[in-house]
Amino acid sequence: AKSSATRGLSFYHAEMDAAERHRRRMKDELRLALAEGQFHLLCQVQVNLQTGEPCGHEMLLRWNHPERGPVPPAEFIPLAEESGLILPIGEWVLREACALAAANPQLGRVAVNLSAVQFSQPDLPRQVEQALAASGLPAGRLELEITESTLMLDRSRTLPLLERIKALGVHVAIDDFGTGYSSLGTLRSFPFDKIKLDRSFMAELDTSPQAVGILRAVIGIGRALEIPVLAEGVETQSQLEHLRAEGCDEVQGYLLGRPAPVPGQENAPSGDGTL
Ligand code: C2E
Ligand code: CA
Ligand code: CA
Ligand code: CA
Repeated sequence: AKSSATRGLSFYHAEMDAAERHRRRMKDELRLALAEGQFHLLCQVQVNLQTGEPCGHEMLLRWNHPERGPVPPAEFIPLAEESGLILPIGEWVLREACALAAANPQLGRVAVNLSAVQFSQPDLPRQVEQALAASGLPAGRLELEITESTLMLDRSRTLPLLERIKALGVHVAIDDFGTGYSSLGTLRSFPFDKIKLDRSFMAELDTSPQAVGILRAVIGIGRALEIPVLAEGVETQSQLEHLRAEGCDEVQGYLLGRPAPVPGQENAPSGDGTL
């Protein structure tokens, strides 16, 4: 008879196979999703803390699976990255975000997330340029968000592409700041237009003096570099008051507004525009 340890092991393998089969199926379905227009973008408002006025919107990708329903980005983006599908998906996001922004001036500046994998494409700056040209969106109304981890991956490849993108007049923000390992040197080596403080700091803001200290330090970095600091994941009034007291420039989070369809686009078909 099998020992319980061996049974445990084969059970573990069976689980692995099931997980791996699921991932493969999801990748196949992701490929179809783009062709069939199952993706759409939501927008989440960014607010200037001084004036209380909206200053822009982050565009967030959603996959509405015909049977599974909405699949969270945390689940499908890693699969899209592994399979390389993030390249055509990312290009679609760029074009769709620019088109939505051009048709909706009230959105202000729109921020689009770029995956590290997209920097494997030497023609990324040209994709950005074409998305702007096709939509007629002025470059100054587009902001691209790059995470700290993207920068750390391969700076010698990423920075020249970012330089060319910036030369178009597009803004570049550093996303999820405080979760990676970028040094002040990294921040100085590229002219970022904004620092987005990761939302993990917000959770602790009400309870931890250290979190307040870090917030203060990051705002100091923003001052030194003469760029605004935006705090992500703001959920409570008391977080907002902390941020205001410390002189944070901009805020984004459920307190200000949840990710939502662009007004007027609620029922619009997404994808290639065919019905
Ligand atoms: P992110 O870039 O850090 O985006 C912010 C995430 O925080 C979004 O999650 C947003 O819905 C969520 N969020 C906003 N306010 C709050 C809040 O007050 N509390 C909490 N707990 N969460 C808040 P979402 O939309 O699920 O996206 C998750 C991640 O997926 C994004 O993190 C980004 O890394 C990635 N992602 C989303 N869209 C795209 C895309 O078009 N391209 C790429 N490459 N990645 C994307
Ligand atoms: Ca982001
Ligand atoms: Ca972020
Ligand atoms: Ca994030």
